[in-house]
Amino acid sequence: PPPVEKYEYQAEVSRLMDLIVNSLYSNKEVFLRELISNASDALDKLRYLSVTNPDLSKDVADLDIRIYADKENGVITLTDSGIGMTREELVDCLGTIAQSGTAKFFKAIKDNKDAGGDNNLIGQFGVGFYSAFLVAERVTVSTKSPKSDKQYVWESEADSSSYTIKEETDPQLLIPRGTRITLHLKPEEKGYADPERVQKLVKNYSQFVSFPIYTWQEKGYTKEVEVEDDTAESKKDDQDDQTETKKKTKKVVERYWDWELTNETQPIWLRNSKEVTTEEYNEFYRKTFNEYLDPLASSHFTTEGEVEFRSILYVPPISPTGKDDLVNQKTKNIRLYVKRVFISDDFDGELFPRYLSFIKGVVDSHDLPLNVSREILQESRIVRIMKKRLVKKAFDMILGISLSENREDYEKFWDNFGKHLKLGCIEDRENHKRIAPLLRFFSSQSENDMISLDEYVENMKAEQKAIYYIASDSITSAKNAPFLEKLLEKELEVLYLVEPIDEVAIQSLKSYKDKDFIDISKEDLDLGDKNEEKEAAAKKEFGQTCDWIKKRLGDKVASVQISSRLSSSPCVLVSGKFGWSANMERLMKQQSS
Ligand code: ADP
Ligand code: MG
Repeated sequence: PPPVEKYEYQAEVSRLMDLIVNSLYSNKEVFLRELISNASDALDKLRYLSVTNPDLSKDVADLDIRIYADKENGVITLTDSGIGMTREELVDCLGTIAQSGTAKFFKAIKDNKDAGGDNNLIGQFGVGFYSAFLVAERVTVSTKSPKSDKQYVWESEADSSSYTIKEETDPQLLIPRGTRITLHLKPEEKGYADPERVQKLVKNYSQFVSFPIYTWQEKGYTKEVEVEDDTAESKKDDQDDQTETKKKTKKVVERYWDWELTNETQPIWLRNSKEVTTEEYNEFYRKTFNEYLDPLASSHFTTEGEVEFRSILYVPPISPTGKDDLVNQKTKNIRLYVKRVFISDDFDGELFPRYLSFIKGVVDSHDLPLNVSREILQESRIVRIMKKRLVKKAFDMILGISLSENREDYEKFWDNFGKHLKLGCIEDRENHKRIAPLLRFFSSQSENDMISLDEYVENMKAEQKAIYYIASDSITSAKNAPFLEKLLEKELEVLYLVEPIDEVAIQSLKSYKDKDFIDISKEDLDLGDKNEEKEAAAKKEFGQTCDWIKKRLGDKVASVQISSRLSSSPCVLVSGKFGWSANMERLMKQQSS
């Protein structure tokens, strides 16, 4: 027999296994979802690679998943005809921590604990392969990669810190390609090896898997058999009825076992949006992106004409990387398919500009070549058109949230993604018209609820021509700024820009609905109430005082002037017309220190 080699798990793996077992003890059935999701990933990879290398799928054409439940022995076997694993990959993938799902899982557990939540939520997370040990005392993975001519068997037991790998030699167990996972269930979990239960779980957890999932099921059909009819015989004797036949047919149910297709393989984005419920969209979102909260909004659409594609986009309910993180634009948020074949979820600005990189969704294109590469994506005219349409739809969707009855939804959105939109003001001039109505600010007349620019404009005085703002580091300091006095007196509303990015964003916009944005801390603020006579008189009276102050302050100020902009404060420091505002100066200082 071939040698059996023993390996130790990476320390994190043992920790992860502990965590999974302890957090999910009440939600063990997720193991099946995880194994199916891995099988589906493996099939996706194979299908994608066979586009350029058809040889890969020559031995087994059918891409499917088969689950066999042996009730008597408490064993479940799950086989896929996907990409399989080489010996090295077995060590890398099943002996060390897999990156994707895990980090999220750790975070979810923490968030959830902090929020005092229950463990069921965590069950919605992608916890990966090791969840097999929730129900199995021993797991065997026999796998054959097209890259290797040998098939290998990985095996490990629950609560063990090691696993073994050996070559598969039993000819009966050899497979042409793919992976077979065998779960030897713990005695108390043997109930999972019930074919009906497996069928239910598959239907419940995996209806969005786009490969056929077959389960081994007992079936029956009724057939008619001819039987001797003794009763008729006796009747005939008694009643002397000559027309009665001696034979009679009887219905019997013939039982047999066979593979049964258990899921619906039509991807949800190919369905008619009128026939898909919100709950289905939400579920698809949670399952596809391993999320545990429902999205804030979704949009399902088809475009035709110049380019053809179908898409479902989502606005997530929270920012996964934290509210302040704008730089992280490398997400796996958009899954690109070409004619249903999964191509990639690794994008960097090709389909959405970075400030919209929080949008999640699937895009299925009809026009791109199946072997589309990174370079093609970046160069492609089709992709550019797709990007335009996707961005438009994303804005429609966000606008939809902002118009919804439920104000809280948009507050949530703004809290998480407001900064992204402000970044959009700076980086995407072309979409100013779409971004501006979505912005929200506090103002001198609304310190607790943010207002939109539309609300500001509606609230403008008849003679008012501009939108006034003051940039500061907090609402309190904005409120106390002497610049404000005159405007408050005249009941002119002033926007409070209190986040560092606000001022640059507003300056990029320049105007909204033909109303210029005006910084009230600047030198030449004109509120349309100039009184020449009064000013001349004041100049006469205080001209010398100004000169004296300027002399005393020297280069510390550019000039000292008489102003009519204050009502109770004696003086105010303003910034020059063309210079930085005080707020900007403060920010720049912060940056350079
Ligand atoms: P994730 O799916 O998030 O990467 P998992 O713990 O579920 O993490 O799986 C770990 C890795 O093991 C996968 O990324 C994949 O490389 C490999 N793997 C698991 N199951 C299979 C399978 N059926 N076929 C091929 N590779 C698999
Ligand atoms: Mg997985």
